[in-house]
Amino acid sequence: MRVLVSGGAGYIGSHTVIQLIAAGHDVLIVDNFANAKPTVVNRLEAITGRHLPVQAFDLRDVDKTEHLFAHEQLDAVIHFAGFKAVGESVEKPLEYYENNLGTTFSLVRAMRRHGVAKLVFSSSATVYGTDQESATEDRPTSATNPYGWTKVMQEQILRDVAVADPTMRIALLRYFNPVGAHESGTIGEDPTGIPNNLMPFIAQVAVGRREKLRVFGDDYDTPDGTGVRDYIHVEDLAAGHVAALARLARTDDPISTWNLGTGTGTSVLELLHAFERAVGRELPYEVVERRAGDIATSYADPSRAQAELGWVAKKSIDDMCADQWRWQSQNPEGYPDA
Ligand code: NAD
Ligand code: UDP
Repeated sequence: MRVLVSGGAGYIGSHTVIQLIAAGHDVLIVDNFANAKPTVVNRLEAITGRHLPVQAFDLRDVDKTEHLFAHEQLDAVIHFAGFKAVGESVEKPLEYYENNLGTTFSLVRAMRRHGVAKLVFSSSATVYGTDQESATEDRPTSATNPYGWTKVMQEQILRDVAVADPTMRIALLRYFNPVGAHESGTIGEDPTGIPNNLMPFIAQVAVGRREKLRVFGDDYDTPDGTGVRDYIHVEDLAAGHVAALARLARTDDPISTWNLGTGTGTSVLELLHAFERAVGRELPYEVVERRAGDIATSYADPSRAQAELGWVAKKSIDDMCADQWRWQSQNPEGYPDA
């Protein structure tokens, strides 16, 4: 298939591009580089040995999106583009609603106008609200912050589109906590400023960019009192997109929802200790207050994806830490500007 990868220069998109090409697909990346550096593309070309077409524009631009669909033959869209920082979404709700919903409106309109039926959408475990323990796809959706609401709303919009046009083939993929990096160490997550998420923060402590990890609370109702999450290697996540695309080509369901997680929870301290094993030394931390809005425990029930996609996450926490550390130690400041 020829696949438009929206947000294909970002963290998850870039890893997915590599696996799409390995699976025999062609890709067209659209990214406005709001949260990515153009050097990602050179590295993707080095890994894949291919020239990768990239169009740099804002997908909210309806005219440019329409022009693209009018001039390119496309079979499917994987829609990663959007803003994703929970805390920032509380500060800038309008920007989050505008960008996340706007890109989806523009893309889906163009898809329908040009008869492109297959869409894989980046959703999140955040749509389970405060009920994320062994989450199954049939749980009611809700949210606790504007970012989460954008995902709940985009899912609802896509469900409504699928009712109105049953020829659509839409996959809602609910990711748990993506971490790790490509095994080459040349592409990975490159957060701007102070990382919000645990794994990139630990990696920056290990490389000396941050003094110590702050553990947000050790009085949760979990085995060691720290928060438990379902960390999934970004390579496994990328493979889930390839599997979902294959499934969309053979299903009769206009819309499907799949959790992408391992089904196993890991605590903050367990992840820290796994990272210490990867680095070969202890890392400094202190326990501080809980972070507002955090829940104790989140992990997937991934059995539907296993049954229907034939997909299962294969990589261990130690694999995730080893690959994250290779990326971070080879690129202590992230991607170069040019
Ligand atoms: P990312 O920020 O690395 O990638 C998103 C990409 O989209 C960036 O390259 C950015 O430049 C681009 N983009 C943003 N707005 C755009 C616009 N208007 N037009 C064109 N390009 C635009 O994020 P990621 O971690 O790769 O996440 C990808 C998707 O997965 C997002 O939708 C995110 O909400 C979702 N998701 C991520 C996580 C996670 O923890 N990383 C978890 C669950 C869901
Ligand atoms: N966390 C932490 N220190 C940090 C960042 C995160 O203790 O600097 C904890 C957080 O409280 C949660 C877990 O690590 O229990 C995962 O947080 P992250 O932000 O990575 O993912 P999310 O909470 O969005 O699932």
